[in-house]
Amino acid sequence: MAIVTTTIAVANQKGGVAKTTTVVSLGAALTELKQRVLLVDVDPQGSLTFSLGIDPEDLEVTVAEVLLGTRQAEDAIVITDDGMHLLPANITLTQAEESLIGRTGREQRLRVALDKVADDYDWILIDCPPTLGILTVGALSAAQQVLIPLQAETLSHRGVGQLLDTIHDVRQFINPSLEIMGVLPTMYDGRTKHAQNVLAAIRETYELPVVTPPIPKTIRFAEAPAIGRSVLATARTHKGAEAYRQVAAGMLAGNKKK
Ligand code: ADP
Ligand code: MG
Repeated sequence: MAIVTTTIAVANQKGGVAKTTTVVSLGAALTELKQRVLLVDVDPQGSLTFSLGIDPEDLEVTVAEVLLGTRQAEDAIVITDDGMHLLPANITLTQAEESLIGRTGREQRLRVALDKVADDYDWILIDCPPTLGILTVGALSAAQQVLIPLQAETLSHRGVGQLLDTIHDVRQFINPSLEIMGVLPTMYDGRTKHAQNVLAAIRETYELPVVTPPIPKTIRFAEAPAIGRSVLATARTHKGAEAYRQVAAGMLAGNKKK
């Protein structure tokens, strides 16, 4: 069987919708399933890097140098306490992004860099910043699929149209085979009629697949990043971790069918 790497961009230009939490938790769940996982931080905030127990300020080599072409991805990748590989980021990515404007292949650079290490991984999960600029477009260009976390609350899905426009452009001009894996409802409170209505509205308005199960709202997610471990490692059996495990199992089953 050919070794195939599935690269997923986790994107939504709205902040605080659980992009980073989703990348960490799905990465940890796939690792539990004996998958080889690379997480990629392309947010200058470095939240993914930080939440995996690495101080972004301490890093000499990050995804910034990789995008600028001065270092290779393999020089920057670190191994986290949870046993995942991470291509980290810190604030230097802000300057790198600026200097990429006007440089050749700016939106292809992440794909080219990841192609070189892809054989080492079954899954590559990219944590996007809360913008639709070069970094997110670069992630969408490198990915086969995009997963859109969405907080199932009123109006939080307003920006989805804009994201879909960007995805449409990326498909048309850069990456024709980009697929939408779906919308992942996060911080979901299924007890409220309201949350259920929002989910139904998302399905109807955008005709997007909704990934199941929704991720329930639980305070446990706020606790994990502070100690640099994923919520799956710190609280093995809570309902949020369990939901991410089910999503990961579905991803694995979907891949095996292909
Ligand atoms: P983003 O990367 O989209 O900005 P984060 O993953 O950083 O979002 O999550 C934003 C905040 O919401 C964080 O404080 C995180 O701990 C919290 N959070 C994420 N998922 C959940 C959840 N299912 N229930 C409760 N809080 C959550
Ligand atoms: Mg984030």
